Amino acid sequence: EATTFYRETWADIDLDAVASNVAEMKKRIPEQVALMAVVKANGYGHGAFRVAQTAIENGAQWLAVALFDEALALRNQGINVPILVLSPIPPKHVGLAAKYHISLTVSDDVWVKQAREVYHGHEPVFLHLSCDTGMGRIGIRSIEEAELLVHEIQRDNRFIIEGMFTHFATADQDDEHYFNEQYERFQTMVDWIHQLGVHPAVIHCSNSATTLKYPEEKRQLFNMVRYGVAMYGLSPSPEMVKKLPFALKRVMSLHSRLTYVKKVKAGAFIGYGATYQAKQDEWIGTVPIGYADGWLRGLHDTDVLIDGRRCPIVGRICMDQFMCKLPEPYPEGTEVTLIGKDGNEEITADERAEQLGTINYEITCTIHPRVPRVYW
Ligand code: PLP
Repeated sequence: EATTFYRETWADIDLDAVASNVAEMKKRIPEQVALMAVVKANGYGHGAFRVAQTAIENGAQWLAVALFDEALALRNQGINVPILVLSPIPPKHVGLAAKYHISLTVSDDVWVKQAREVYHGHEPVFLHLSCDTGMGRIGIRSIEEAELLVHEIQRDNRFIIEGMFTHFATADQDDEHYFNEQYERFQTMVDWIHQLGVHPAVIHCSNSATTLKYPEEKRQLFNMVRYGVAMYGLSPSPEMVKKLPFALKRVMSLHSRLTYVKKVKAGAFIGYGATYQAKQDEWIGTVPIGYADGWLRGLHDTDVLIDGRRCPIVGRICMDQFMCKLPEPYPEGTEVTLIGKDGNEEITADERAEQLGTINYEITCTIHPRVPRVYW
């Protein structure tokens, strides 16, 4: 699908791959378990709206985002399914949340008290109780906190407890000890809420890693799963790659084109700091993507793919460009693959993550919005 842009760098987004990653997961989870597509951070850098649309077409019933703004943007683009904001937002926005039917995360009674005071409308406000079972980020931790929160909500019938959830800190690791502790704790907290006479419509704790590990087990999944990184074709961690129940399909690939090609003499220096010196006469290509695009300086000792071959990056990565060594004088305009496949060679987001000492999530999220996304 062509969008108008003029730069020679772009990210291809394969929506068929999103469709497949969602459909494969839907096939494996029990029918009564809903799939919530996590599209925060602009769909992990892939484009929240198009990914959300595709996920919904393939069976996702819910969406999750991190920011209230992200939820509003999706509503304004015409998305009608329920949307949950996973992070706390200031109580003063409840009126807008009610107006756009956006579900909110709540962790304490003080928030509810403040929200009740500032909200003068009549539309219901849908809340999901956040439970801290060991992530240490947000959420209630004790039965006292649970009671205070539930009682404060029950004082006002405009506020509806629609869901409750927790988040696992170690679901992607081989060692399941801490995961099991968190799971048991969540089960206890679900019991607390039930004992208070509250039966949230959706109870959810499973991220991609948990859902991939226990797809058929209703126990771990409760009645909804939050499907994030794997929907984008990425493994939740390197150790899970060997345990995936189906092949995840890569959604994002990153491409550019040589904008300048020249032969330099032996001894010539390349780039800021003059850190690279040609050992012999060499062909050097310039590629128009740099650290301002999320092509970070830490990638300076890695390769890119041209004509099915790995070509080393030479010199430091600049803000908008970098240089690489070519095996032969390719014409300007020749395609360069930074993430993806070219012939028999492939560079994955996992490889980039390893090169930068980080996780694949960070690779796709940090590809800057000035890199156009092209949807297929
Ligand atoms: N739920 C919460 C609360 C999250 O913060 C995240 C992502 O960070 C997810 C679900 C999705 O996790 P994953 O991308 O590992 O599937």
